[in-house]
Amino acid sequence: MKLKHSITGGIFAFILATSCCWLPALIIGIGGGSTLIGLSNGLEKYSGVFVALGVGLLGYGVYQFVNRKNLKTNEQVVLESTITCPNCGHTKEETMSTNSCQYFYECENCITVLKPTGNDCCVFCSYGTVACPPIQLNQNCC
Ligand SMILES: [Zn+2]
Repeated sequence: MKLKHSITGGIFAFILATSCCWLPALIIGIGGGSTLIGLSNGLEKYSGVFVALGVGLLGYGVYQFVNRKNLKTNEQVVLESTITCPNCGHTKEETMSTNSCQYFYECENCITVLKPTGNDCCVFCSYGTVACPPIQLNQNCC
């Protein structure tokens, strides 16, 4: 029983994990299919519904594809930023966290605690070579 459960769970997880790849194609397929059904169906009463459904699904599928393209740019976020201390000029490469911004940063050379300047949201935006991930993605900062 246990083995059967884990196999079922595994298959389900596999379907879930890969659904992002085949789901839009499936939706486009269904969309195109039902459009054809709607066009060739003699039941004029329902053909409008089928065409509307087909076009809607087709649009949704294309939308999903466009969305996936946009998602890809999320993977190109740079997480390494070199911070230059305005006090002593010391530089150090730091790895930024994708979900939170760093407001305070202590320079390991002169032990000055740096804070963001102006309207900057974090020390990486003010002193780093690369702005923080939310800024790179044009999102509002934390
Ligand atoms: Zn310093």
